[in-house]
This record gives sequence, C-alpha cells and structure tokens, in this order.
Amino acid sequence: MLKGKTALVTGSTSGIGLGIARTLAGQGCAIMLNGFGDAEEIEKTRAALARETGADVAYNGADLSQPDQIENLIQNTVETFSNVDILVNNAGIQHTAPVTEFPPEIWDKIIAIMLTGTFHATRHVLPHMLSKGWGRIINTSSVHGLVASINKSAYVSAKHGIMGFTKVVALETAQSGVTCNAINPGFVHTDLVQAQIVDRANLAGTSITDAARDLLSEKQPSLEFVTVDQIGALCLFLCSDAAAQITGIPIPIDGGWTAQ
Ligand code: NAD
Repeated sequence: MLKGKTALVTGSTSGIGLGIARTLAGQGCAIMLNGFGDAEEIEKTRAALARETGADVAYNGADLSQPDQIENLIQNTVETFSNVDILVNNAGIQHTAPVTEFPPEIWDKIIAIMLTGTFHATRHVLPHMLSKGWGRIINTSSVHGLVASINKSAYVSAKHGIMGFTKVVALETAQSGVTCNAINPGFVHTDLVQAQIVDRANLAGTSITDAARDLLSEKQPSLEFVTVDQIGALCLFLCSDAAAQITGIPIPIDGGWTAQ
C-alpha cells in the first residue's frame, strides 16, 4: 500500500514509534528511524526491520529538542529517499512531579521535544508534501492531550498544545492533499510507562504485575494495555486513501479512558 512512499518517524528506536515504523515498513514504505539508544542496538533494529520487511530503512540520531538538528534530520531524510511523504511526530519523554516541585529545566525540555519539536519538523516537511500534493502528518499526542492527570503538568501541556497545532496545520493544508491528525493513546506498555510502573511498585511495596494492574484500573476501563501494533494499524489507516477527508482531529485509542 505504501510502496514508493517515505516516512520519518521521530522517536522510533523503541516503543510506539518503532511499532509504527514496523507497520509502515511492512507496507513497503521507506523509513527514517530517529531516537536515542545504544548505537549497536539501534543498528541491529534498523537492519532487522529492513531484512524482515524488505523496505529501505535508515537512521538519524537528531535530538528533537534542538531545532538545527531537526532541520538536518529533514534534509537528511529528503537526501536519502528523495522525499518525505509521511511524518510521525512521536518522540517524547515523561516526568512526574507536582507543579510546585516540577524542575523548570525539565519543563523546558518536555515542551521543547514534544511541542516545539513537532512545530519544527512539520514546518520543514510541509513544503515537500505541498509540492507533491500528498502528505500525512500524524502527531502522537495522548489521552493527556484531551484530559489531565496530577503530577504531569509539562506533559499534559505539551500534549494539549499538540492538539491545537494539529488543528491549525489541518486548516492551513485543507485543500492540498495533506492531512494532519493526532492519535491519543491511553496506556501502552513501553519503556516510558514501565518507568511509572516501577515507581509505583517501589512506592507501594507491591510487585510490578500488581502495580501495572493498579495503574490500568485507575484510568483504562478495558484493563488492558493498548499495543504498539494497534497504534501502527491506526496510523496505516490514516495513511490510506480512505482517510483522505479525515483531518484536524484527535483519535483516542485508549480502552475507554476518555469515555469516562
Ligand atoms: P519510549 O520511551 O519507548 O519511546 C520514546 C522515543 O523517543 C524513543 O525512541 C526515544 O529515544 C525518543 N526520544 C526521547 N527523547 C528524544 C529526543 N530529545 N530526540 C529524539 N528522540 C527522543 O516511549 P513511548 O511510550 O513509545 O512514547 C512515544 C510517544 O508516545 C511519546 O510522545 C509519548 O508521550 C507518547 N505516548 C505514550 C503512551 C504510553 O502509554 N506509552 C501513551 C500516550 C502517548
């Protein structure tokens, strides 16, 4: 379905981003991976993805908190694959603390990576998409782009900001063949959530399994984690012709979290 297309997925060395990259590559899409991690492990991931899917897969380790590195990332993607048709703004981090104790430098970093990084990546890819009359921008927001939780002020602010940005880009590109949407996952069992489960287990003196169950039972009525494959499938749908008129919206994938 995506043969001849190219996707840049930021924050795709693990978790949701890697799941999205795997799904798109499985449909023949060339992939630019991005994110942090051990260089050897990343190369193994890149090579395995290319081998398993037959797609072209490259990697660029740009830091999404650095605007000049984002510009180089887009340039490098276009030089490597001649274009960029799909952008998934997915890189992200989490930090939990009450507002009064929230370290200002971590606030700045969260906003820089998740919100400002999304702006820079989008502004650099859009001219390429507009010149071809086709493009898909998918912003990984979160249920926390729609509702709040305590101790996540920077994260909730960045994810709500992404929702506004998504709508503006959708309006500005409405007649161009480019769509821009947000996906809003509930809990997905990735490194980012594992850190919260471990903190919870340590605090309550419970097992990791019990802490994971408690985390879900507080927020996610299905009591099951969303999987990265389910998120990949949603992104694939957004890249299809069937989704050409879907633009500027949040799409929760959250086991009922935001229905409450
Ligand atoms: P993860 O920690 O597995 O993945 C985060 C990715 O972002 C990694 O590839 C990491 O290297 C990369 N990254 C972090 N800082 C970066 C930077 N400065 N520059 C470039 N890359 C950077 O976590 P995940 O759960 O897969 O998170 C991916 C996205 O999904 C995030 O935006 C997160 O907020 C969002 N999300 C996660 C959940 C969940 O439950 N896991 C729910 C909703 C939304």
